[in-house]
Amino acid sequence: MAYDFDLYVIGAGSGGVRAARFAAGFGAKVGVAESRYLGGTCVNVGCVPKKLLVYGAHFAEDFEQASGFGWTLDEAQFDWSTLIANKDREINRLNGIYRNLLVNSGVTLHEGHAKIVDPHQIEVNGERFTAKNILIATGGWPQIPDIPGHEHAISSNQAFFLKELPKRVLVVGGGYIAVEFAGIFHGLGAQTTLLYRGELFLRGFDGSVRKHLQEELTKRGMDLQFNADIERIDKQADGSLKVTLKDGRQLEADCVFYATGRRPMLDNLGLENTAVKLDKKGFVEVDEQYQTAEPSILALGDVIGRVQLTPVALAEGMAVARRLFKPEQYRPVDYKMIPTAVFSLPNIGTVGLTEEEARDAGHDVVIYESRFRPMKLTLTECQERTLMKLVVDGKSDKVLGCHMVGPDAGEIVQGLAIALKAGATKRHFDETIGVHPTAAEEFVTMRTPVAG
Ligand code: FAD
Ligand code: NDP
Repeated sequence: MAYDFDLYVIGAGSGGVRAARFAAGFGAKVGVAESRYLGGTCVNVGCVPKKLLVYGAHFAEDFEQASGFGWTLDEAQFDWSTLIANKDREINRLNGIYRNLLVNSGVTLHEGHAKIVDPHQIEVNGERFTAKNILIATGGWPQIPDIPGHEHAISSNQAFFLKELPKRVLVVGGGYIAVEFAGIFHGLGAQTTLLYRGELFLRGFDGSVRKHLQEELTKRGMDLQFNADIERIDKQADGSLKVTLKDGRQLEADCVFYATGRRPMLDNLGLENTAVKLDKKGFVEVDEQYQTAEPSILALGDVIGRVQLTPVALAEGMAVARRLFKPEQYRPVDYKMIPTAVFSLPNIGTVGLTEEEARDAGHDVVIYESRFRPMKLTLTECQERTLMKLVVDGKSDKVLGCHMVGPDAGEIVQGLAIALKAGATKRHFDETIGVHPTAAEEFVTMRTPVAG
């Protein structure tokens, strides 16, 4: 049977665009549907605008520290609407770039919601198209628990478009988004409280990193409340929010921001017309080659709930395009040693095993750790400290993990990830000459283990 398309991609986000462009480049006839915004979550309500807001928030400390270097400034003023308008302009520009990337690579773009009608047919804007393969790359959506008054809370989707900076913000959650947005709100001048239901936020990150960030955020004056969870939210006559915690305490805020994870975006997708199965958490179930239970349908990115990061969705998109249209170049995605950064203030950068994971896996663990005051701060009143940590296997000398909390941690850890992927040993680190004077050189000068 002749199909309209060799591949029809639902969702023009990180993974979908990558798969579509490369498939078209390999000679396939490709269609893409996008219902909301070109570039997906990362470009519109994720990585990119988030990083711009983090830069914005960072200026607060830059101004504070400038006096130590002889600069005198009038009192700095911040205008939220200018930051948001400039951010929106940049995102608009990126939307245009994504459109050109798709169209110039020969992909047919349909702007509208796509519904799968049968395993080889999609409907968009009332029109039906047939495809040999369909790729579900529909991403995720914020998930707010169904507590009384949840309709008064916002998620990251709304936070990027707030008309004004709230005076008092309550951030709920202890993952990437909660920690990053707490830093943004706090840095920009809002009175910020971070509420997390467990003992210590950032579950799954190295214990030293979690503790260090807790100390640094507390030093900056952020109100961290752990073992705390919301029971209900009530809107008061003056528009402010009264928040009742499960332990009976009450807090007041102008904005309650939930960052409690993301669900797969499957709304009105028509999966009931296919044999596609979902896993226990409701994400689309795929095998190691992104194949769903329906032979003609594949899925990748956040919707499969593996690792919800843009570079991972990109790698999966590339793998799918190659698998379908350039099998001789197909290489499976390697999910080991994925570096990641949390753009909290200060940043976290991490790659490889945490100390806890290394011990659980039975490694003969040797730990190197360094805490120091960044050189830039020595002329200032700022008491921030940087943490660097290496997790080493004592038997093989292999470096299993690198962890950092401090300025530019994300930038620094990218290069370390290459070393770890190449199998670097502690001796390789020791024999590498440092770049002086930098913070990064500390990673090659730690000589004395702090724990074995
Ligand atoms: P998405 O990028 O979400 O794209 C899915 C697309 O499908 C969307 O455009 C959607 O509109 C469209 N769609 C959905 N259903 C349909 C339909 N039925 N028909 C047509 N179109 C449809 N990752 C990082 O690596 N670094 C970061 O710093 C980072 N920061 C983040 C900050 C925030 C606030 C958030 C929310 C996420 C962040 N992420 C970050 C995660 C990253 O954004 C995602 O992992 C990535 O976007 C996933 O790509 P994807 O292609 O799977 O889905
Ligand atoms: P995460 O899964 O990272 O964190 C969710 C947090 O919410 C956890 O602390 C979790 O607690 C808590 N939580 C979950 N359910 C509830 C509930 N019912 N009540 C109270 N707390 C709850 O999700 P995010 O929303 O922060 O981010 C989604 C994903 O997006 C991230 O996992 C990451 O992959 C990606 N992302 C990446 C970024 C980056 O690369 N810099 C930045 C932002 C997002 P517990 O730990 O106890 O389960």
